[in-house]
This record gives sequence, structure tokens and C-alpha cells, in this order.
Amino acid sequence: MPKQGERVLIAGGGIGGLAAAIALGRRGIESEVLERSRFTEETGAGIQLGPNATRALKALGVLEAIEPHAFRPEAIWIYDGLSGRRLASVPLGRHAEDRYGAPYLTLHRADLHAGLRAAAESLGPVTLRPGFDVTAIDAQGADVLARGVDGSEAKGASLIGADGLWSTLRPLIMPEASLRFTGATAWRARLPRGNLPAPFDAAVVGLWLGPRSHLVHYPVRGGDDLNVVAVTEGGAERQGWNQSGSAETLLSSFTRWTKDSKSLLERAAGWRSWSLYRLTPLRRFSVGRIALLGDAAHPVLPYLAQGAALAIEDAVTLAACIDAWQGDPPQAFRRYEALRRPRAARVQRQSRRFGRIYHLSGGLRLARNLVLERRSEAAALQRFDWLYRHEDQRP
Ligand SMILES: Cc1cc2nc3c(=O)[nH]c(=O)nc-3n(C[C@H](O)[C@H](O)[C@H](O)COP(=O)(O)OP(=O)(O)OC[C@H]3O[C@@H](n4cnc5c(N)ncnc54)[C@H](O)[C@@H]3O)c2cc1C
Repeated sequence: MPKQGERVLIAGGGIGGLAAAIALGRRGIESEVLERSRFTEETGAGIQLGPNATRALKALGVLEAIEPHAFRPEAIWIYDGLSGRRLASVPLGRHAEDRYGAPYLTLHRADLHAGLRAAAESLGPVTLRPGFDVTAIDAQGADVLARGVDGSEAKGASLIGADGLWSTLRPLIMPEASLRFTGATAWRARLPRGNLPAPFDAAVVGLWLGPRSHLVHYPVRGGDDLNVVAVTEGGAERQGWNQSGSAETLLSSFTRWTKDSKSLLERAAGWRSWSLYRLTPLRRFSVGRIALLGDAAHPVLPYLAQGAALAIEDAVTLAACIDAWQGDPPQAFRRYEALRRPRAARVQRQSRRFGRIYHLSGGLRLARNLVLERRSEAAALQRFDWLYRHEDQRP
């Protein structure tokens, strides 16, 4: 039976918004997900899900449904793009699963989104409203009222802003917060894995480091395709995840790489790109009956592959807080932000730091390579304990 009087509006039905609806639904709390798109444009690239994310997905009952579309990489192989030399291997596969009690997976964002959407649709307390582009919020009365661009309305006891990086709701919580272009651009392409030469055919995540640019590749679609993401310093400020990108411009950032290191970039076609933005950690994630989650609250740069994971973690904790403080959304949201802000800020900081390390040049690059080469495989994985050991935070 749905719990009375707790209907939660969720603006944004992306990864975090759907995860929040599922987490609430499993606790019998009603929610209405207001999503701008018609769920038909779920493009995007691959997503890596560390054990912290898969543990949360397991708790939401979604892991089993996405696993057939996902891939379990055996390791992260780290290379220097200028020399083509392999510097380190971080064991994943069975090692990571034994250590953290949950698998490390790679998959296409669309497959993760489809799994979340199917789970949300199967839950009685969840209503999905595609085509609802939230443009205004009225939280003056006892309820929160959301208005769509076409005049449609939705009413709830509280509202979660899960509307992503270019959030419409963020200014309601922190009017002074503004996204800053980092000066870097991410590029993505996908290609079939059949006939790829070594080492690109290996069942691993490949991470190639270079001055002012790096390259990541990993299998998706159950292992059929290879997702390729390159990050280069430069580019323009543009909104959206799906800009067209020219291979020529991309390759001009890799001229110093060895022929073999950059051969994957030359094979791939149909490049799409998106500009990378950062946001200084927010002082608060909520005001009264409105709270932010995922990229709306704390966008992370992609260097630790934690954007989706943080949004899913937020969703689980937020639902637990709403359940614990039924009838008092402001108190539930204060507890949620107290639990989540330090974690999110740490991941934001560490992601930026990893980006700086990936793109080192000159003597610092050589020093980095030496450190990576000397570190044991076990130590390489242990360094991520703080990230992957994260447990559900109790309210
Ligand atoms: C189409 C798409 C493709 C993406 N591709 C990549 C990628 O290739 N690589 C990568 O690292 N990250 C990508 N992302 C972002 C990634 O999914 C998020 O960084 C991460 O999962 C955090 O999830 P989130 O729920 O906070 O945001 P998202 O998963 O981005 O979800 C935000 C949702 O809010 C909706 N929305 C926005 N404004 C409104 C509004 N005013 N009213 C109603 N709904 C609204 C959006 O349509 C979207 O569905 C993509 C996001 C989208 C929407």
C-alpha cells in the first residue's frame, strides 16, 4: 500500500531520477517523475559502474536486469600514450568482486537507463510523465507545484531536482552557483569488438595517458562493442551530450602518440563530443521542500567514472531519509545533505586531481609513470577502497 501524504515529485528521469523513484517505490512511497524527453533519445556513451554503484543497484533490485547487457572487465590496464608502454594493471573481475562484495561493470548508458526505467514502470507507487519539461516551481503553500513548459502541472509534498548538469532547479537552491567550462572536451565513439588488434581486443578497461589528453576504452553491449572516450584540452563551451565531432580535430591532439597507441582513434568513426564543465561544491543541496540530486547537485568530471554512481548513491540515501522523516521533508532533506555533501565533494575533488595526473607532461609525466610502474597490483586496487567500499548511508 502506498504511504499517504508523501507524494514526491522528481524533476528529471535520467539515471538519478529513476533510481530515486525506484528507491522510494520499494519503500511504498509514491513519486511522479517529470521528464523533459519522451525517453526516445537515450543516446550517450558507455558508463562504468564501480562496486559502489553496483551494490546500490543490487539493493534497488536492478542489477540482475542490466547484467546481461553489461561487461565484467578483468582489469584496468594503464598505458603511456607517448611511449605505448604498459605502466600498470589494476585488477578488477573476481578480485574486485571479492574485495568489495559487488562487481565492476561497464555498459552502455542506454542499457542502464532502460533497466532503471523498466524497474520504475513495474512499481505501483511510481508514475512516469515523459514530455514534462519543468520550467517553474511554486513551493509557497503546503505543497510543491511544478509547472511544465506547456502549462501542465504536478503537485507533491516535496520535490527532488534530478535534472542533470544543466539543471533548471539548481538556482532555486543556490542562485549564485554557476557552471564553469574546464577548457576540455570529451569525445566518444563505438565500434564492434570483432577483429580489433591487441591490446584493444582484451577484456579490460584500457586507460592511455598523455600530455593534455587521454583515452579510455572498454567493452559494452555485453561485450559486442567497444566504447571509446577521448578527452582533450581545448574546444568550445557548448551545452548537450551529443555534439558532432570531427575526427581530424580530435586526432590533432594526439600527434605525439605512437602509431599503435592512437590506432584505435583512427579506426573509430562517427565521433560525438561534449564540453566538460565543473561546479564548485555547493554549500547546500536543499531548501525547504526541494532537494537536488546527482549532476544537479554535484557534477563530477569523468576522470574517476563516478557520475552515474554518485547519482545512484544519492537516490538510495535520499529515499531512506524521506522514509525516516515522513511528513517532514525539510528535515529529511537536511539529513540527506549532511550525509551526502562530504562524499560528493570528495569525489568531485579527486576526479579533478586524477584529470591533472592523467594529462601531465615533461618530467612530471615521467615521475608519474615511475610511481605507477612501481606500485603492486594489490596496492593499485586498495587505493580505491574509500570509493568502492562505500556503504548505503543510514539516516
Ligand atoms: C541523453 C544523455 C546522454 C548522456 N551521455 C553521457 C555520456 O556519454 N557520458 C557521460 O559521462 N555522461 C553522459 N550523460 C550524463 C550522465 O548520465 C550523468 O552524468 C549521470 O548519470 C548523473 O545522472 P543524473 O541523473 O544526475 O543526470 P542525467 O542522467 O543526465 O539525467 C538528467 C535528466 O533530467 C532531464 N531534464 C533536464 N532538464 C529537465 C527539466 N527542466 N524538466 C524535466 N526533465 C529535465 C534530462 O532529460 C535527463 O533525463 C548523459 C546524459 C543524458 C541525459
